Amino acid sequence: MLRFAPSPTGDMHIGNLRVAILNYLVAQQKQDSFVIRIEDTDKSRNIEGKDTEIMQILEKFALIHDNVFHQSEHLHMHQTLAIRLLQEGKAFVCTCSVQEIEDDRENAKKNSVAYRYSGHCHDVDKSQHSKLKEQGIPFVVRIKKPTEDIINHDLIKGDISTAPNEVDSFVILREDGTPTYNFACACDDMLSGIDMIIRGEDHLSNTPRQKHIKNLLDYDIDTIYAHLPTILNTDGKKLSKRDNAGSVKWLFEEGFVPDAIINYLLLLGNSKAPKEIFKLPEAIEWFDISTLSKSPAKFDIDKIRFINRGHLLMMDDRELSTLFGFADVEIGQLAKLYLEEASTTKELEAKIRAIFNPKSFDGEWGEQMRTISDIIQNAPMINDFEKFKKYIIDKSSLKDDNLFKPLRLLLTGAENGPELSLIYPLIKSYLLEVAS
Ligand code: GLU
Ligand code: ZN
Repeated sequence: MLRFAPSPTGDMHIGNLRVAILNYLVAQQKQDSFVIRIEDTDKSRNIEGKDTEIMQILEKFALIHDNVFHQSEHLHMHQTLAIRLLQEGKAFVCTCSVQEIEDDRENAKKNSVAYRYSGHCHDVDKSQHSKLKEQGIPFVVRIKKPTEDIINHDLIKGDISTAPNEVDSFVILREDGTPTYNFACACDDMLSGIDMIIRGEDHLSNTPRQKHIKNLLDYDIDTIYAHLPTILNTDGKKLSKRDNAGSVKWLFEEGFVPDAIINYLLLLGNSKAPKEIFKLPEAIEWFDISTLSKSPAKFDIDKIRFINRGHLLMMDDRELSTLFGFADVEIGQLAKLYLEEASTTKELEAKIRAIFNPKSFDGEWGEQMRTISDIIQNAPMINDFEKFKKYIIDKSSLKDDNLFKPLRLLLTGAENGPELSLIYPLIKSYLLEVAS
């Protein structure tokens, strides 16, 4: 079982989307289930409506899930599991004050060593738990640190070993009884029967703690981990919400289509892809997550434009035309002609709008445009461009630049573009509207 565990704390980022795509893809390869867990336990950071937005984005990318739940629904189970660890002597109640912990942290900092819990309450008897509760004395629950190194055989990062002291006896339940991030995460992975976790490398340091929790909870399913390298912006810094291109919403607004975004994200750090332009179902056949590069990948806007163009070229003509408010094979073909000079649906839309919008007759070629427009309004339907051209020449006696510049402006609303002989057959049934 695989999962995608987004936090509803901000806009969906392409790093998150990539994680979702890869978990979905590998679930498909293993013919296993794929669940969505909304990690909403940090109430102060949750943003209303972001959970729905995330689900809508997943739907746009057709990343179908078998189940979805909010982590907060499991609060009771997290608490029960923490108490179980306490009963089994694998965790202990800790009454060290905030001040004591703070002092220890300060000291560690002064000595330039990493902070570790003092171990002060390590051997406190479990019977203290109910006494503290009765007396209303604040306490947290800490898990006992491991006795041996925790080893993670990461599919991408290789073997990583973490010493018991580095894992430390860390807090699993806070004073207010809420689980800490790592505890909630590990409990839920266990409760859902997760056996493979694909996520960003920013979670690499959480892995030993989560593994340790699952070990002490006697979770006997071995979990495979794959931590994906960071995506960098053009400055070589981690691509963040502040980078436009990092946001899925921005990519949509700019006119990138879901298939192309998926394609691009599956190529990041992937030197083994047998082709450059493909759709997700094809990638399921050959994608091998273990061959992804360990090093960060740079977001490359030119590359994603190239891939987007490839997907627009592959799209069914009529379907493509619907993106611009038509349901017409010819408008789809017209859009494809413009892929010579455009790569996104936003850019194509501007080209098509220029063709259909009323033309301005105020410019340098306005007079000739008016003449041609009048001729067209009274002309019969002409199928062939050469015959159409001859008809205009005969009626207007315009020629060379005096003919072609105004004619192009009148038919396309632009001074340059694809060959008129290619455009004409695609717009001829709209000619009266176009040439006005
Ligand atoms: N909620 C975490 C995030 O959005 C993911 C946690 C995980 O995959 O384990 O980064
Ligand atoms: Zn303590």
